Amino acid sequence: MESKPEEPVVTYVCGDCGQENTLKRGDVFKCKECGFRVLYKKRIRRKRLIPAN
Ligand SMILES: [Zn+2]
Repeated sequence: MESKPEEPVVTYVCGDCGQENTLKRGDVFKCKECGFRVLYKKRIRRKRLIPAN
């Protein structure tokens, strides 16, 4: 088996332009398209910002 380092990746949707952003831990938390800093987790339908743990 291959042993890859685990990289939890979460897709976020920009609160401004709607661009999907795939972020890993340690990435800058902002839209790569417009620079907006409010991103929503794509999977969760709540319109709340949940801090990545
Ligand atoms: Zn954006």
